[in-house]
Amino acid sequence: MGNYSIDEDYEFDVLKGYDEYYLKNFGTPKLAITRAKGSKVIDFDGKEYIDLLQGIAVNCLGHSNPELAQIIAAQANSLAHVSNFFTTKPQVQLAKKLAQIVGFEHNPRVLLTNSGTEAVEGALKIAKKHKPHGRIIALDHSFHGRTLGALSVTSKEKYRKPFSPLIPDIEFIEPNANRLRDAFSDNVSAVILEVIQGEAGVVPIDADFIKAARKLTQKHGALLIIDEVQTGIGRTGKWFAYQHTDIVPDIITSAKSLGGGFPIGAVITTGTTGDVLVPGDHGTTFGGNPLAAATALKVLQIIERDNLLSQSAQNFPFVKEILENHQNPYVKEIRGQGSLIGIELTSQSAAQVADKALENGLIVNACNPSTIRLAPAYNIGIIELRSALIVLDRTIRQVLDLNYED
Ligand code: PLP
Repeated sequence: MGNYSIDEDYEFDVLKGYDEYYLKNFGTPKLAITRAKGSKVIDFDGKEYIDLLQGIAVNCLGHSNPELAQIIAAQANSLAHVSNFFTTKPQVQLAKKLAQIVGFEHNPRVLLTNSGTEAVEGALKIAKKHKPHGRIIALDHSFHGRTLGALSVTSKEKYRKPFSPLIPDIEFIEPNANRLRDAFSDNVSAVILEVIQGEAGVVPIDADFIKAARKLTQKHGALLIIDEVQTGIGRTGKWFAYQHTDIVPDIITSAKSLGGGFPIGAVITTGTTGDVLVPGDHGTTFGGNPLAAATALKVLQIIERDNLLSQSAQNFPFVKEILENHQNPYVKEIRGQGSLIGIELTSQSAAQVADKALENGLIVNACNPSTIRLAPAYNIGIIELRSALIVLDRTIRQVLDLNYED
């Protein structure tokens, strides 16, 4: 797995240290990982795993991409950080590149952030200022992040309850065009939605609903915010998932794959939406940091140069075909697009399957009780992907087939 120069103290018990010193919000980590390359990951016992989750849809070029490592080192050696009193070439180059790939014809503008939830905060602040005291419509089963604004438009009661009251005047509706029409009025300031709801179980939202959301927001002077944190930067085979539809939103939010493993997010606006925030309205110390911006720019350049949008697009049909050929009786449905794939099981055993997969040397996750999520690197080799799917098929049978014998 290449040269590894960072000092490894094998005597240091990482999991014990985590238990002792880290906050408890994530629970006990399933593994302590020491290094990784491409789609392979190694834990502290030297055990190898194939990673089909890639930091939950983050490492779109796989682990330890040498070109990203190089740009991070070079940028750190020349200019790692400046305040937002100043600007830098990577910051502006990245904004320009994002403005080009987003496909907004009118006045595309970018704000760089440090994470997905922070991008959503930026979008919500624009929506609230654009129409003060307006309602915001979000969808049932949505996930937009864990900071208080993003949490306010996240539907899951378990995540919301301990922190209520959250931002008021948020209405959750099912993604049904008639329901949206009923909910709409002139005092709606924005609709926020994911084109494919990732955390909900890789559930695509109906194109008719998205079209209705566009029409109604336009009619009532509200903004349409598409949260592309999980689906963006080629994850579904296009730069942004909304580009599979024939609408154009007012704002998109991005993060995850944008940095290929380096923390960064972005809010991208079009038209006059980009004029809503004025000096003093919003800020971030690290957002637009040249180290993050140079890395993200490199990610976009590599995706473009290596034709990875089309490679990402091919992962879903490949996975579907391989899994269908296995005729696993415990697989009910295979959903998704590109490199975001949900495998719905016939029972609520996804967490047990994910745990067993880890034992079998495979990293996947249970994004809801019955769905396994795959978010592989766009450039994963088909031999590696095929062998990972064989492990997954076997794991599902091990967990669900009471008569299973190896
Ligand atoms: N929005 C969507 C659609 C997401 O899937 C996520 C994270 O999973 C977020 C926002 C929050 O992003 P982050 O975890 O970077 O804050």
